[in-house]
Amino acid sequence: MDLILKNIGRLYQVARQGESRKTGLEMQDACEISHAWVGISNGKIAGLGTMDSCPDGAKVLDCAGRIVFPGYVDSHTHLIFAATREGEFVDRIRGLSYEEIARKGGGILNSARKLQLASEDELLEGAIARAWEILHMGTTTVEIKSGYGLTVKDELKMLRVARKLEAHVPLRIRRTLLGAHALPMDYREKREDFVQMVLKEMIPQAAEEGLAHFVDVFCDRGFFTVDETERIIQKGADYGLKAKIHANQLDHSGGVQVGVKNGALSVDHLECVGEAEIQALQGSATMPVLLPSAAFFLRAPYQPAREMIDAGLGVALASDYNPGSTPTGNMNFEVALACIRMRMLPQEALVAATLNGAYALDLAAECGSIEVGKSADLVITDRMESFDLIPYFFAKNQIHQVVVKGKVMGE
Ligand SMILES: [Zn+2]
Repeated sequence: MDLILKNIGRLYQVARQGESRKTGLEMQDACEISHAWVGISNGKIAGLGTMDSCPDGAKVLDCAGRIVFPGYVDSHTHLIFAATREGEFVDRIRGLSYEEIARKGGGILNSARKLQLASEDELLEGAIARAWEILHMGTTTVEIKSGYGLTVKDELKMLRVARKLEAHVPLRIRRTLLGAHALPMDYREKREDFVQMVLKEMIPQAAEEGLAHFVDVFCDRGFFTVDETERIIQKGADYGLKAKIHANQLDHSGGVQVGVKNGALSVDHLECVGEAEIQALQGSATMPVLLPSAAFFLRAPYQPAREMIDAGLGVALASDYNPGSTPTGNMNFEVALACIRMRMLPQEALVAATLNGAYALDLAAECGSIEVGKSADLVITDRMESFDLIPYFFAKNQIHQVVVKGKVMGE
């Protein structure tokens, strides 16, 4: 083995049976082992167990008194953007709503205007800084969406920046085409023309250049309809792009149901979820992804995580890192909000922020838990007894070291 993490106070494997996701009651079990070791070979987990079975003869990292859990999998971000939007933040404090700001050409359209003016190099520079920021806070896999371009040229530009980012930061990155993020002002009277541009130009070109893994649509009141969403995700499927949908943030939009019906990998946001949406998700392969810091920042109602898990669903947690509704990619804070505001148990939140996030990116065979054969993506915390202290000290940075693909960051 290349490296052994020894004397780990508590190891959270999250899964140990090769599960691709956990649902309902299963989420309460984050598969703890006390006084443990983990061995790494060629960037992968090569072995693990309790200290009485620990082999000798490799480089050692002593983790005495610390806990170790899988690197966070942040399955929903808008990490690439050209400018912050603190003006809108202050407008909201003064009383304007997110939708009122959007109608005035703020919100996503504000980000789009600035992104269209930015060069690939400028965008890359900002993205590199944010990518290192989240890596140091424990994220080892991240999804990044386009969606601030809103022209063919600028959407592809964003995806190219996301692809280049991988050469600069050791994060595992998945790229999503979100051409249908908002309707630009000059398409207000001809929305079908915009949808046709997504269908006939953005999707084929992004797929042919190998720029996107997934396709996404903002299916909500004031954005795109269920019918438009369905046509876009079906076109994505023709090109081998699985769907991830922005659904039910602002209304009971039908986004959840259209996602489930079309086999979407995930439906994300879900502030507006009731019985009908929960029923649609039951027994489906679609992962609901909850973004609690977006609800926090916009003072919106939190997603009904407790009801969803108690109904037998699995949920994932993601940051939604973006300049408008969540200017943070700190997954420790998502875990804290999930526990404090949505009454998820810490172990449920850990499963949601790792394994279930990996499922929402079709990556559960590769990351999201500490199992032999998976990528060695690990978080080593400050000295602490249990993961419960991560949400408990909700505003404290408690990440000591991060290991990505077997490499210890900072060494
Ligand atoms: Zn989003």
